[in-house]
Amino acid sequence: MSEVPGWISTRGAGEGPVPFLGALRQGLARDGGLYVPDRLPALPPLDRATGFAAMAVKVLEGWLGPPTPTWSWADAVRDALSFPVPLVRLTGGEWDGVHVLELYHGPTHSFKDFGARTMARLAASAGLQRPVAHVFVATSGDTGSAVADGFSGVPGYRVVLLFPEGRVSPVQEAQLVVRRPGVVSFRVRGSFDDCQALAKRVFADRRFDAWSPTSANSINAGRLLPQCLYYLHAARLLDEAPVFCVPSGNLGNLTAGLLAAACGMRHEGFLAAHNANDAFPRFLAGAPARFGASVETLSNAMDVGAPSNFERLAWLFGESRLRAMVRGMSVDDPATLGTMRRIYTESGVIVDPHTAVGLEAVRRMRRAGVPENAPVVVLSTAHPAKFPGTVRSAIGIDPPPAGGLEALKGRPTRFSTIDANPEALLAALAGADFSE
Ligand SMILES: *Cc1c(COP(=O)(O)O)cnc(C)c1O
Repeated sequence: MSEVPGWISTRGAGEGPVPFLGALRQGLARDGGLYVPDRLPALPPLDRATGFAAMAVKVLEGWLGPPTPTWSWADAVRDALSFPVPLVRLTGGEWDGVHVLELYHGPTHSFKDFGARTMARLAASAGLQRPVAHVFVATSGDTGSAVADGFSGVPGYRVVLLFPEGRVSPVQEAQLVVRRPGVVSFRVRGSFDDCQALAKRVFADRRFDAWSPTSANSINAGRLLPQCLYYLHAARLLDEAPVFCVPSGNLGNLTAGLLAAACGMRHEGFLAAHNANDAFPRFLAGAPARFGASVETLSNAMDVGAPSNFERLAWLFGESRLRAMVRGMSVDDPATLGTMRRIYTESGVIVDPHTAVGLEAVRRMRRAGVPENAPVVVLSTAHPAKFPGTVRSAIGIDPPPAGGLEALKGRPTRFSTIDANPEALLAALAGADFSE
């Protein structure tokens, strides 16, 4: 199929368009840029009656071409996206009429399951498995468990998790150390930045070549594309074009929404809701793009100082169009807790701190009179049960249980603790057990 998009680098240094699977396998373009599509497929008509996975297959055909006997990607997509995606309309208080799109019903209970599961199954369906590749993931929380769960048991892939000792929540840690076929976890004596530096070193240090290292981080085209799907799902369920509010960190989720919009999805604009890490809202308000170190907040999956997808957004849309399409908002921790409390007392809903940042941003936007008529959809990015301590301190009760987290209780674990240097990682890998 010649008319499906090819993928080119944001830095454009000589590499011709690569097919989607090339971009998925490669991660970053060879010149260090991010992969972007060289054209945009038109959206097929989407009715409300079709199930989510069937809708996904219809949309992805424009990006991947029809499934073939050698690449039956539609089965992979149906298998990956087999969990519910409810759109819930709130009542009561200042959130009356706001829609919440619950993206946390996948196996690890954050929206990262959409990208990670689909990426893993697409890679497997294409037979990208020789030699066995090792996905190295530095994680501060949700990404690691979504990638480990997505790739566990997938032929041709193993996963190596690197997470900082003492810096992830107890629930997140339980998700990271549980024994999964093909996955090993290393608890690193250091910070998240140390883990990330170690993962980068793996790709630069020839001693790791024998492990065929690969990555699955938020800039991967294989994670980006599936994230367009739930925007299209929400848009088709509403009579009027909505405003989307996206709790944001690395801007992968927002990029996917803007990509869906660029393909023709109806919308009335986007709201990027950030915590105290406010470089992107500042940029949207007119400041020059200036990114730096992150600060720690209650919504830790959004603690990003230098969003890795910004380069892709700037390439795809240009700075002035971005500022026209997206409004930014920054919400601090006290306001986040206050919102969790108010939404519980006024609407009876328990939300996690990331979703609360989005809801508070919407409340402020509506107070300012925007949007006048359009419906608003807030993307709910994590299940409240992932953050029981924060939920308890906000509303004084425990969050409802989440199936995937309950299932972890009593399961065997597999992890070891290592120093933050490549020699320690090499030694640990040499003795690692990836078995069932
Ligand atoms: C990763 C994550 C985010 C931020 O998403 P980006 O694509 O990095 O902007 C928000 N909420 C939760 C719960 C996450 O895990």
